[in-house]
Amino acid sequence: MIVCTSISQFREERARLLAASETPGSLGLFPTMGYLHAGHAEMIRIARKENRLVAVSIFVNPLQFGPHEDLERYPRSPEADEQLCRLLDVDLLFMPSIVEMYGQQPVLSSVHVGMLGSHLCGTSRPGHFDGVCTVVAKLFNIVMPTRAYFSRKDAQQLRIVQQMTRDLSFPVEIVAGPIVREEDGLAISSRNAYLTASERSIAPRIAQTLRTIQRRVAQGERDVALLQREAVHTLEAYEGIRVDYLSFVDPDTLQPFTTLVPGRETLCAAAVYVGKTRLIDNIDVRAPASTEYTVTARGKR
Ligand code: AMP
Repeated sequence: MIVCTSISQFREERARLLAASETPGSLGLFPTMGYLHAGHAEMIRIARKENRLVAVSIFVNPLQFGPHEDLERYPRSPEADEQLCRLLDVDLLFMPSIVEMYGQQPVLSSVHVGMLGSHLCGTSRPGHFDGVCTVVAKLFNIVMPTRAYFSRKDAQQLRIVQQMTRDLSFPVEIVAGPIVREEDGLAISSRNAYLTASERSIAPRIAQTLRTIQRRVAQGERDVALLQREAVHTLEAYEGIRVDYLSFVDPDTLQPFTTLVPGRETLCAAAVYVGKTRLIDNIDVRAPASTEYTVTARGKR
């Protein structure tokens, strides 16, 4: 595995590795903010199966954090991340500094995401998806991947990146990956590290509530307002839990539904504060539960 910290070094190594291959090969990119966990590992394994070369980027992107968010304290573990990437047979690990990515000057050009970024997480994190798309566009230009991997864990991000790729004609195939969960159902996230022991014990309620909604819809419930009320009531009965949003949306337009239509694809997406930690999760409430690909893992890896 080659570890690159500069854009020029990455470009040189990429060209060298591709030139060394006898047949023209594909390059899969998995962009991350590091503190790698079992969810990231599964995505890397998928990319490994589908590409001749695999690149992972680790960059805590300041542009996607709001002024009062957790940029400074976002968890980091560069040595462990590097070790895991080696273990998973990654070819190129790109770990640039902020100055390497954005220079010393303020960033003057950025990608602007339209209406797909204005609600759900966009409401409480204004500008977040502009920051995500700006760094993803830069990574696409630096890495020039054949495919790029994004998990359904961040469903709105995945949809927005798909749209940006189409709108800006990046020659990149966006591959959607699974949500990897802990054994108790909690979607694995680097931010789970913020949870105290008692917060960690109630955090699985989020996934359990989404499953309950999925079951209620499968049994015929169609009243979105009722399902929302019930879910918020169940979750907020736990001290320390506060629902930021819990919405039923069209997975394509991300527009909210007020009623559920049988057979119509519907995503139930939620952002929930557990203590001060904001966690997100989602579930497809039309498909049967068995379509969700779940890998369980204990602990951080
Ligand atoms: P992050 O490092 O949190 O910015 O995430 C980098 C990528 O990993 C994104 O595509 C995320 O959706 C994905 N990811 C985060 N959590 C999980 C998970 N539990 N299962 C699978 N992929 C995940």
